[in-house]
Amino acid sequence: MKVNSERLKDSMDTLEKSHNWPVGLVGKLSSFISDGDDYDLFRVNPLKFADEYHISSLDGIDLFLWATKLNIFQMNWELLCPACGDHIQSFRHLNTIHDKIFCSLCQCEQIASLDDWIQVTFTVNPKIRVIKFHHPESLSIEEFIFEYHFTPGARLNKEFPFGGEEIVKVIKNSTKGVTFVESSEKEVIEFDLSEGMLRIYDFLNQKGLHLPVSPVTREIEQSIDLKYVNNDFEIGQLQLNSGKVKFTFENDSDRRSALLFSFIPAEILDHMDQDQDFTIVLDPYLDGKKLLTSQTFRDLFRHEVIQGNEGINVKDLTILFTDLKGSTELYDKVGDLKAFDLVNSHFESLSKVITNNSGAIVKTIGDAIMATFANPLDAIKAATGIVQDLKEFNQNHGGENIIIKIGVHKGSSIAVTLNDRLDYFGQTVNTAARVQGLADAEEIYITDSVYDIEEVQSEISGYTVVPERTKLKGIEEEVDVYKVLIESVGSSMAV
Ligand SMILES: [Zn+2]
Repeated sequence: MKVNSERLKDSMDTLEKSHNWPVGLVGKLSSFISDGDDYDLFRVNPLKFADEYHISSLDGIDLFLWATKLNIFQMNWELLCPACGDHIQSFRHLNTIHDKIFCSLCQCEQIASLDDWIQVTFTVNPKIRVIKFHHPESLSIEEFIFEYHFTPGARLNKEFPFGGEEIVKVIKNSTKGVTFVESSEKEVIEFDLSEGMLRIYDFLNQKGLHLPVSPVTREIEQSIDLKYVNNDFEIGQLQLNSGKVKFTFENDSDRRSALLFSFIPAEILDHMDQDQDFTIVLDPYLDGKKLLTSQTFRDLFRHEVIQGNEGINVKDLTILFTDLKGSTELYDKVGDLKAFDLVNSHFESLSKVITNNSGAIVKTIGDAIMATFANPLDAIKAATGIVQDLKEFNQNHGGENIIIKIGVHKGSSIAVTLNDRLDYFGQTVNTAARVQGLADAEEIYITDSVYDIEEVQSEISGYTVVPERTKLKGIEEEVDVYKVLIESVGSSMAV
């Protein structure tokens, strides 16, 4: 174990001072770094870490973001295969990522979105501790395939045989052989086959072969020549029989090969043929959307931007717009300058409510704020929190000083870089802004896409909710919106 103890101690001292962490958390991270095994410190899932150390996921994400900022960890953006959980590609920075997935093992092609198949993990920085995964070329073939490549939290869909099981375990159990084959070398692999499909995959060259195996058994061993040449496989025959088989693999390229012979039995193939959804299910993980809706990420990694004009799709993003203004009463009472001061001072507490509810401020436009949330319930909690907070503020300052109007909407959006800042565009953003425009003082307007969520309904069940059907400026069709009246809350709740 190669821990740079001095550097670790210094970094932990700085980390401790950087933020208001739960008591003892930094010490636990320090022990995790010095005592964990190499695999624990490779691609850490901050949500899993938070769960294991009994802290909130917000603290878990913040901890690894700060630790990355202080060079204790390195951030990885990864594209995963939706069918097998293989790491198709890993990127150190957001600006190098793209959204095109092609897995030659599964022959699966897909476009990723920030909330689907883009995973963010953290690996210990080699300057703090060297782990064998920093040097994948030094790994054993088993480590390279089953630990370096596959994602541990990827599980088979419940509909499937072995449903809920980690896919890496299923693949491991169905593996007939694995081997590295150096350039210009030859390896022989022998095993038994039954009816199904043999998949041969080279992880280093990302090339695959699918060979059907018939139920007819050959009495004598089938001897098959397989060659890797000119960036592809060359094989003597494409159909195999059940029974003994011997592969002689010749690597005729100038690169190393990392081969997996994986067998899928006929019963599972039948399921795959029935057009069932064989998309894997991932344990809770930090996706690109959750990261971009973290205020800490936006504050600490301002240089992280999305490259290109196309942007990256987000399937489901919740957007909150607020408009904060001094009331006429306030301007009359204290004058423009002081009123402006008071409104500004409240901006800060508004930001805090958004951040505490796992949201991030994308931008402020005059007196308006645009914020995003990965989860609509968080947006609603923030919205009601902002109004309650403001009521308190007004009460403490003797009257209706500041007014706020809020709108919340959710839907798909495109994440882009605009003016050196991570921003979003699309109809969802326009609608959210228009919906905010409907609100009056201390009203929250939400669209049906937000209202339809059960947790949202139970969160606002204490308030008067008025449904409306309305036309929004610039939007063709009428929309269903709900007005949530915060002023109707009983006086006991407002205190
Ligand atoms: Zn795959």
